[in-house]
Amino acid sequence: MAKRDFYEILGVAKNAGEEDIKKAYRKLAIKHHPDKNPDDKSAEEKFKEAAEAYEVLSNTEKRQRYDQFGHAGVGSASGNGGGYGGGGMNMEDIFSQFGDIFGGAFGGGSGFGSGGGRRVNRGSNLRIKVKLNLNEVANGVEKKLKVTKHVACSTCKGSGAKNGNYDTCKICHGTGVQTRMQQTILGAMKTQTTCSSCHGEGKTIKDKCNTCHGDGIVRGEEVISVNIPAGVADGMQLSMSGKGNAAPRGGVNGDLLILIEEEEHAELKREGNNLIYHLFISFPDASLGTQVEIPTIDGKVKIKIDPGTQGGKMLRLKGKGISEINGYGKGDLLVDVNVYTPANLTPDERKLMESLKLSKNFQPNLNKKEKSFFDRMKEYFE
Ligand SMILES: [Zn+2]
Ligand SMILES: [Zn+2]
Repeated sequence: MAKRDFYEILGVAKNAGEEDIKKAYRKLAIKHHPDKNPDDKSAEEKFKEAAEAYEVLSNTEKRQRYDQFGHAGVGSASGNGGGYGGGGMNMEDIFSQFGDIFGGAFGGGSGFGSGGGRRVNRGSNLRIKVKLNLNEVANGVEKKLKVTKHVACSTCKGSGAKNGNYDTCKICHGTGVQTRMQQTILGAMKTQTTCSSCHGEGKTIKDKCNTCHGDGIVRGEEVISVNIPAGVADGMQLSMSGKGNAAPRGGVNGDLLILIEEEEHAELKREGNNLIYHLFISFPDASLGTQVEIPTIDGKVKIKIDPGTQGGKMLRLKGKGISEINGYGKGDLLVDVNVYTPANLTPDERKLMESLKLSKNFQPNLNKKEKSFFDRMKEYFE
């Protein structure tokens, strides 16, 4: 079939200006619009033909090529994916042009043809707090949480309908969108909005379920088992997809968001993935050396205090801290050694102390090794 001349299709002169071409196309687009001519094949052909002519003549470069070489100049060889060679433009392309043609009055043409589609109900997200002790944080834990939330109605299996029977919405015929003819300066045009009868669901219920009154959801309880990984921290939020509130009439469930709260341990302080324990030993123990029991996450352990241990010494128990949440590596348990200085002495103790005071070994002896240690501690506390 020989192609008609593009100027002839739009009914404009060869030297027509941009505005004349646009105006001519608008008229034809409205006249042959498929919505105004349902099931009219020849109108559809004319509609496409006009769109194709406009596509070329509205583009300076393409128009030049067309003027010079005719249809061959803007055929499939033009690099447009063969859009012009065979059946012309598809409807989607045409509608996407409409934003330009009609000045965006129709939302770039989205109101035409393609449609918005049905709306799927979504349940809301549910947020709960979970309190964990340090042991649970360190080792991970499975928590069974009793959650009050919207659940699917068991009477109607979440459908909201008495016998599970829906009717297709009579207003939108199940599409969820309502098409309206709107009078504009360009004539009657089609616009689409969410169906006001079914609120976009595309279906209506004839007999509502007595239990849920047609909602498909009721207040209920669910015990949800949550695997909390080792290494979580206060303020972290875990998310379980689909474990939140059920959606009305069989939609998509919301998510369950689990906010972690960490209980403070009586003796161990957490600092990142390390744990810190403040140990106090007596002055004689620090001097003579001893063994002490300290708490860890896995229970008490005995550690050795070397003779001559200085107050402020930090002992490190490797790998006795908290696991990294990604599973790689573990923090340490740091034991901060403090030497307790007695305050209220008996007369005998005081006498003993005073004789020790004269002893040379009881004077701070900041030899090289000890001095560097104190300097380090100074840095640590500053
Ligand atoms: Zn509807
Ligand atoms: Zn029900």
